[in-house]
Amino acid sequence: MLGLKIDVDTYWGMKNGVPCLLQTLKEFNLKGTFFLSIGPDNSGRAALQIIKNPLFLRKMMRTKAAALYGWKTALYGTLLPAPMIALSFPEIVKEIIAAGHEVQFHAWDHRRWQDELANKSESWIRQWFAKGIAGFEKLTGNKPTAFGAPSWLIDDRVMAIIKEYKFEYLSCTRAKTLFIHEIANVLEIPSDLPCFEEIDAQKSVSIISELIKYGETHVLPVHAEVEGGIFNEKFKQLLKSALDMGSSIVPLREFKSKLTLQYIPARKYKMELLPGRHSACAV
Ligand SMILES: [Zn+2]
Repeated sequence: MLGLKIDVDTYWGMKNGVPCLLQTLKEFNLKGTFFLSIGPDNSGRAALQIIKNPLFLRKMMRTKAAALYGWKTALYGTLLPAPMIALSFPEIVKEIIAAGHEVQFHAWDHRRWQDELANKSESWIRQWFAKGIAGFEKLTGNKPTAFGAPSWLIDDRVMAIIKEYKFEYLSCTRAKTLFIHEIANVLEIPSDLPCFEEIDAQKSVSIISELIKYGETHVLPVHAEVEGGIFNEKFKQLLKSALDMGSSIVPLREFKSKLTLQYIPARKYKMELLPGRHSACAV
């Protein structure tokens, strides 16, 4: 079983990447889970990271960030105002749902969470959730039943707030196996496979195919900006390869419904710097 976790991180990804992925998934008659960023696209503030974190610049060069997102994205939140992400495209959100995909909550302001969470107060985090979930409800008519943290970054304050929302599951880590989060007492469905931007994109199909060929359960992290952009052909090749190997490709709610929860261990998340990433992820 292969879960498809599709993150939408930017205005560009919502506008261009999501329609492209909807078309791809339709061609393969597959469903996935879209984790939406609801609020402002402050991507341009990433420029500040170049000064603070040399690994970030290396990542931007390797992934050819400008080719992925276009030059405008690089200025949002600095020289250009930050546009709303999902809130700018209510009709695309409706299309995702009408096509039978699952929609869940990824972020209010993705960029600020990923760069500034550690320095923000608990009340900032609370407001971030409140604004994001209100926007999600406005777009879908429902509250989200799952949360996938931006950049797989969480801390104990976040987990305490998550507990209050009573999500049915989380997908907030890059752990290798399923677990129950100790603080929030909720199932974690981790993205155990690498994403395209962490590995040599030219070899991505063979690298990921090799990891899933023994069966078992896996979750593939997909980004609207990447697999719905310049790596769309590679993504199609990967879906074909997985289907040829007998994978059943499903959204995460279906993935969850097939699990036997009583055998899943409870533990606390840890933070770890994974290969190909510029900052630590929860695992
Ligand atoms: Zn994201």
